[in-house]
Amino acid sequence: MSIKVCNFCGYKNFKEKDIQYIYKHNDHFLIVNDVPCEECEYCGEQYFKANVLKKIEKSFMDIYSTRKAPKKEIKVPLENYPELALEEWN
Ligand SMILES: [Zn+2]
Repeated sequence: MSIKVCNFCGYKNFKEKDIQYIYKHNDHFLIVNDVPCEECEYCGEQYFKANVLKKIEKSFMDIYSTRKAPKKEIKVPLENYPELALEEWN
């Protein structure tokens, strides 16, 4: 992959990085660790290869259609901001 110019800021230097990617579709989530991307060194925008995203999407579909078990399941806390806004600050 070589992206010549960042779509957002026009910068030309990218660094390769493995990041945690959160795929979300209709309020279902899949977290994938160590996903390779190229990150713009100026604005931080992240770019992924099309086949990387396709693999994540396929894994998501397989897991939610129960064709495949995920490596691990975790509990994720959830809050609604309007309720947080009403909490007293101690
Ligand atoms: Zn940029």
